[in-house]
Amino acid sequence: MTCFSLLAIYTGTKYNGEEVFSRGDGIVRIVVDTERCKGCGLCESVCPKKIIVMDKENMNSKGFNTAKIINQAECIGCGFCATICPDVAIEIEVD
Ligand code: SF4
Ligand code: SF4
Repeated sequence: MTCFSLLAIYTGTKYNGEEVFSRGDGIVRIVVDTERCKGCGLCESVCPKKIIVMDKENMNSKGFNTAKIINQAECIGCGFCATICPDVAIEIEVD
């Protein structure tokens, strides 16, 4: 039924107690490998939902302030962040 699938695609949900996004093919989580990240900010600039920020309070071992997802539940799973990252530091997991 169309209405049901639309709800499944566009409804935020909980996974292991964390607010995450659910789309048609499963639960979507964005994972940043902070040791690979160099804090260039490209992912922040392309995210249509503005849910990626540079974490000014924490640095990785190389001294970079790294990317942080501030609201998984708002993610639409577009993949722009992972595609643009020059350091392959973002993975989109679909369970
Ligand atoms: S997948 Fe899209 S909406 Fe989700 S964090 Fe990346 S750019 Fe933002
Ligand atoms: S695009 Fe990649 S390297 Fe640049 S801030 Fe985002 S995760 Fe880090």
